[in-house]
Amino acid sequence: MGKVLIIGAGGVGTVVAHKCAQNPDVFNEIVIASRTKSKCDAVAKAIGKPNVTTDQVDADSVPELVALLKKHKPDIVINVALPYQDLTIMDACLECGVNYLDTANYEPKDEAHFEYSWQWAYKERFEKAGLTAILGCGFDPGVSGVYTAYAAKHYFSEIETLDIVDCNAGNHGKAFATNFNPEINIREITQKGKYYENGEWIETEPQEIHKTLNYPNIGPRESYLLYHEELESLVVNFPSIKRARFWMTFGQEYLTHLRVIQNIGMASIDPIMYNGQEIVPLQFLKAVLPNPKELGENYVGETSIGCRISGKDKEGKPMTYYIYNNCSHEEAFKETGMQAVSYTTGVPAMTGAMMFLTGKWNKPGVHNVEEFDPDPFLDVLNKQGLPWHEIINGDLEL
Ligand code: NDP
Repeated sequence: MGKVLIIGAGGVGTVVAHKCAQNPDVFNEIVIASRTKSKCDAVAKAIGKPNVTTDQVDADSVPELVALLKKHKPDIVINVALPYQDLTIMDACLECGVNYLDTANYEPKDEAHFEYSWQWAYKERFEKAGLTAILGCGFDPGVSGVYTAYAAKHYFSEIETLDIVDCNAGNHGKAFATNFNPEINIREITQKGKYYENGEWIETEPQEIHKTLNYPNIGPRESYLLYHEELESLVVNFPSIKRARFWMTFGQEYLTHLRVIQNIGMASIDPIMYNGQEIVPLQFLKAVLPNPKELGENYVGETSIGCRISGKDKEGKPMTYYIYNNCSHEEAFKETGMQAVSYTTGVPAMTGAMMFLTGKWNKPGVHNVEEFDPDPFLDVLNKQGLPWHEIINGDLEL
């Protein structure tokens, strides 16, 4: 049905490649390209199918990307490199007439700040070119937006509160490690928190607001309010929302390490001179921390991510709704060699590309996932390893 080019061969890229290869009726040809080709080759070798090939690209360079797209002529690019490369890849897609999908919104390298405005600015150009760009199609952002769209379509006349709850109750046996790219992860978690209430964004100190929440099959976990990118698009696309927040669980051990890392300056993104060479402390830290791609082998336990929603049902009566997925680190590792955080991001990215190639999410312009029909996407997730569950009119604890 189509040819896909996956850019990035980290934890998420590995899962995307495996899942695309499992669906050859949709993904006839798969190219994996990244900065370090040997990593792409290792993924292709593990998959072991003749329709999976590899290439090398520096995705910071538009000319290199254009040459890559002209050589392979894919129908869609799945960008699972880093958020820094979103705009260069979108530029190259426009130049070559290729559709686009990513899992994280653009972030400049020299400023720990993310927002959709940079990518939303491409709307008209994608529309005019007749190309579809699907933004934020991992789990959160991604499935969190699709869950919200599903709730709005099937249950609510008005969504009033939305709480996205993200729990990783897994244990990888390391004193400190991040579950996806350490640089991006630490930049996100050390920022101020922010949530939306009555038309305003309210800022908090990092980890200032926290609460014990109960997660299905896991139990109580301390959950911390963070700012997360999908809140920005969801309050625009569902304007009845009065309050939108995002919560993530952290263990005490993790938070203590993080505090030390910050206190000694290792989370800084300001370059310093070391032995006559310029280095960025956070990038140096990334080089010595465990590679998230290699956490999978001894990872036990599961993740639980979902949306807790309240509002008025289709008849105007008060209603609560909780929709979630639990994903086992061991099962994810058995299937793809990666842990559940990479798995829960990679499966939705493949699913979004499948929606595009099968004509279900084909809409020229630049769109967040909640702007598409959630039903076919959630059907596929059920069959591709991320089944979801619902609790209607339960206690949301929030
Ligand atoms: P990794 O660091 O494991 O992998 C990133 C990959 O991108 C590596 O293969 C890296 O190459 C490659 N890359 C980096 N810079 C370039 C470049 N200039 N040109 C070409 N390739 C490059 O990250 P993850 O796999 O953990 O995460 C991938 C993406 O997924 C990130 O954007 C992250 O924010 C997002 N994510 C989204 C989630 C969601 O739910 N929406 C959750 C988790 C992650 P090299 O090996 O040479 O460094």
